[in-house]
Amino acid sequence: MKNILEKEKIINFLRRHIVRDSFRYNLIIYSITLVHVVLVLLFCLLNIFPLVLFNIGSVIIYLCCANTIRLKGSLINVFFTTYVEIIAHSFVATICIGWRFGFPQYIIGLIPFGYYMCYTLMTGIRKYVIATVLGVAAFCSFIGCRTISLWSGAIYELDVSKFAELGIYIFNSICNFGFLLLVTFVFVMEMHEATVKLSSQNAILDKLASIDPLTGLYNRRSMQVFLNHALESDEAFCLVMCDIDNFKKVNDTYGHDFGDIVLKDIARIIQQQVKDHGYVCRWGGEEILILSNDRLDHTCRIAENIRRNVADHIFHFQDKFIRCSLTLGVAAHKSGNSVEDTIMHADSRLYYGKQHGKNRVVSSHDTP
Ligand code: GH3
Ligand code: MG
Ligand code: MG
Repeated sequence: MKNILEKEKIINFLRRHIVRDSFRYNLIIYSITLVHVVLVLLFCLLNIFPLVLFNIGSVIIYLCCANTIRLKGSLINVFFTTYVEIIAHSFVATICIGWRFGFPQYIIGLIPFGYYMCYTLMTGIRKYVIATVLGVAAFCSFIGCRTISLWSGAIYELDVSKFAELGIYIFNSICNFGFLLLVTFVFVMEMHEATVKLSSQNAILDKLASIDPLTGLYNRRSMQVFLNHALESDEAFCLVMCDIDNFKKVNDTYGHDFGDIVLKDIARIIQQQVKDHGYVCRWGGEEILILSNDRLDHTCRIAENIRRNVADHIFHFQDKFIRCSLTLGVAAHKSGNSVEDTIMHADSRLYYGKQHGKNRVVSSHDTP
């Protein structure tokens, strides 16, 4: 359990930091700078002066790039500079010391790097076209390096042991694979972040589309889905239609805002009583429909609790306090009937309740 929490913490840390643009680009730029610092030392040891100078130049260029990132300058320029530098370095290294030390392999890493940078920095079709053109250019450069090395050989014929040659090759491979890994990892983290963001936005949109904004109850559209499910499941269910008594008078006397407060409070009371026994929706205006998964007697008990709690509640808004009541019509769904039939029965019981004094629960038992 502790391990899982630790892992979650690390993933969240990486996600939080890696998705920050400057962190991502700095991570890539400083990694490349570090490789060039090592190469300066290596070429000093091997006494290859042009490559020492080239790599010192590269370190300076990448420090300028890091500064551009810090100053929030053009990232596209940083990307193109990196791209050109890596290709130029591969050519110069091949011309100076040949193919065998594996310097041109850095060009391969430019393909995912190019796609990643174009995807994040450019818009529209350009990002695909430019990334592909750069990918083809990288491929041509790679073949170009090989061709040069075969045709003209190396300027410096290094007399190093097989182990030293393999060591330099492995160093270049580690750097190149590390670079590929880094770019891919950053890309995957970013995709993960985008997916999480998208699904949380979808959840919000789903909620907005299914919930009534005033009362927080399900809206009629969602209730239709629950009703269809209930019908298909073949399980017994009941419907309760609720209507606030003399609500027009509340609005007319105390204002529409107070009316809204009454509606919200009643919605909350109903929710509290129904809990997970069913679904509550704002059917329309101040009518609330309950889909109860319980049998009729238990549903009637819930309805009676709702009625009593509403009648006992004191609604207040600003300095005004009032009482309100609710009439509820209950109908058990009979198999073979349509949902509309059951709603009609609940409605007719509600109407009966309104006709017979309001503030009451009318179930199938009470009316013919
Ligand atoms: P009865 O006891 O017969 O139900 O009488 P009533 O006055 O409640 O009549 P009715 O049920 O027809 O009232 C509907 C009123 O509900 C009309 C409308 O002004 C009010 N109403 C509907 N939706 C809202 C709302 O979102 N907010 C407010 N404040 N009032 C609403
Ligand atoms: Mg009404
Ligand atoms: Mg009413």
